[in-house]
Amino acid sequence: MSPLDPPFTEEHQELRASTRVFIERELAPHARQWEDDRWFPDDVFAKLAAQGLLGLKYEERYGGQGGDYLHEAVLCEELARCGSGGTAAGIGAHVNIATPPIWKFGTEEQKQRYLVPSIAGQRIGALGITEPGAGSDVASITTRAERVDGGWVVAGEKTYITNGVRADFIVTAVKSSAEGGHHGISFLIIDRGEGVESSALHKLGWHASDTATISFKDVFVPQENLLGELNEGFKLIMANFQWERLAMALGAVGAMSVAWERTAEFARERTTFGRPLSGHQAIRHKLADLATSLYTCRCVTYDALRRFVAGEDPLREVTMAKLLTQRAAFELMDECLQIHGGAGYMRGDSSPQTHPIERAARDARLGPIGGGSDEIMREILGRSLGL
Ligand SMILES: Cc1cc2nc3c(=O)[nH]c(=O)nc-3n(C[C@H](O)[C@H](O)[C@H](O)COP(=O)(O)OP(=O)(O)OC[C@H]3O[C@@H](n4cnc5c(N)ncnc54)[C@H](O)[C@@H]3O)c2cc1C
Repeated sequence: MSPLDPPFTEEHQELRASTRVFIERELAPHARQWEDDRWFPDDVFAKLAAQGLLGLKYEERYGGQGGDYLHEAVLCEELARCGSGGTAAGIGAHVNIATPPIWKFGTEEQKQRYLVPSIAGQRIGALGITEPGAGSDVASITTRAERVDGGWVVAGEKTYITNGVRADFIVTAVKSSAEGGHHGISFLIIDRGEGVESSALHKLGWHASDTATISFKDVFVPQENLLGELNEGFKLIMANFQWERLAMALGAVGAMSVAWERTAEFARERTTFGRPLSGHQAIRHKLADLATSLYTCRCVTYDALRRFVAGEDPLREVTMAKLLTQRAAFELMDECLQIHGGAGYMRGDSSPQTHPIERAARDARLGPIGGGSDEIMREILGRSLGL
């Protein structure tokens, strides 16, 4: 049995084929430029929307494709083929973390105002939870929402926010009550406008994505922009964590596939001591080990995905998939870089014949930190294992 089948049906595989063609034709040729620019153009969202790729899991009445999480999973995996982790991250933040809470918890009016134009690629979203003083410890956020006539006034700062410069709206976690811990957190959809200021951050990898610090300086947010119930925001955070982490695992599996394929090709072509690199047992065995790691990551991720789609609550399996794949992807990139020798240490643009493996290695380093770090995954697993 191929690990593709289940969970994917023939229809999902057709989507995979057409998505791959689109990404390799429309996005991949620009990856190097976008990385150098530290920005990918906003019209990438419109192009993806024209292919139906921003609304795969959303209902047709909102402009979506009426598909399911498996369709979205195909996109998560295939996006790695664009060759820019930053571009994949910007698109991923829009479809996997910014719009799902509006879809799940939004009023009909909010869906019309934010979800519909997001699916059409006309408005770009971001999710703002992390703050300078609160990352893993989400309950410690301090961005305040003070009740005023007709809404709230928000003051505080979010940081490391993907799409943080370009986002038209930010799905923002705020403290709406003095109650401590997980209580008293709410979500507000904050439009870019007066009092919302972004400053871009420079990073090790994901260069094409605009990660930013966003400050809210007494921003008025109207009552109708409260997302979900007041003081029940923690539920909203928890509701999408499983999908966010699955999406990251799928992205890692996709990136590992691309890096392995390109490295095997390089090893077949590059000759040392009178034979191709792949003719040396040490290199062949390394590639065999990497293929095994890739296969293991794919099986664990697809198992968690299968359970998720079946409506189970696969907290343990999703956590394991996130933990396993993010570190394995970085380790695989490092080994692939080593197989490329000096070429692996070069920027892609100075050695155009080689896969830009150094970018892939830098991009992969985020995985064990973002979306819940390795240490937090282990804490969740520890609890779920009764430790
Ligand atoms: C490129 C990038 C994009 C991001 N995009 C977004 C986004 O779009 N929206 C958003 O809201 N956030 C985003 N983040 C934030 C990300 O989710 C956080 O960086 C992450 O949750 C870790 O939080 P922190 O950086 O504050 O680290 P901290 O929480 O300060 O942790 C520091 C280190 O200590 C470890 N640690 C913390 N607590 C424990 C513990 N109890 N036991 C053992 N070890 C512990 C952590 O694992 C980590 O290694 C992004 C981050 C990056 C780097």
